[in-house]
Amino acid sequence: MAIREIREIGDEILKKQCKEVTKMTPRMHTLICDMLDTMYEAMGVGLAAPQVGILKRIVVVDIGDDPHVLINPEVIEMDGEQTGDEGCLSVPGKVGTVTRPNHVKVKALNEDMEEMIVEGEGLLARAFCHEIDHLNGQLYVDKVEGELHDVDYDDLEEEEE
Ligand code: ZN
Repeated sequence: MAIREIREIGDEILKKQCKEVTKMTPRMHTLICDMLDTMYEAMGVGLAAPQVGILKRIVVVDIGDDPHVLINPEVIEMDGEQTGDEGCLSVPGKVGTVTRPNHVKVKALNEDMEEMIVEGEGLLARAFCHEIDHLNGQLYVDKVEGELHDVDYDDLEEEEE
């Protein structure tokens, strides 16, 4: 397990389409472990493989309940709407307002390459949509309503106290 370098906006790799995963290999398994470690270390709620420079359709999400590992994920149903602030580990220190579906159903493979369906609501739906966008070379900054703004770290610290 290791922490990998997170690619930041401006890096061309973040604009590329990722390839489907066809089989689970020890190398792929290591990548998934590293992605989880990297996400937790950076205190993010999600990370997509292209963010660590790998053009494969793998995302990890953990909004504080359980880690979700999604391989070849695909949104198959969505409903409702939510508008709120969103950030990205590849766009450090910034947030912007994005409207997303409030509920999604995602079809994906798990680490054993078995098909599964996961559902997400609220923040989890937002995280799934955000991470799946990464696999198609899309960053949330292109969907922001209004301007990107700086995260106010003082406010965050106060909230934690
Ligand atoms: Zn992101």
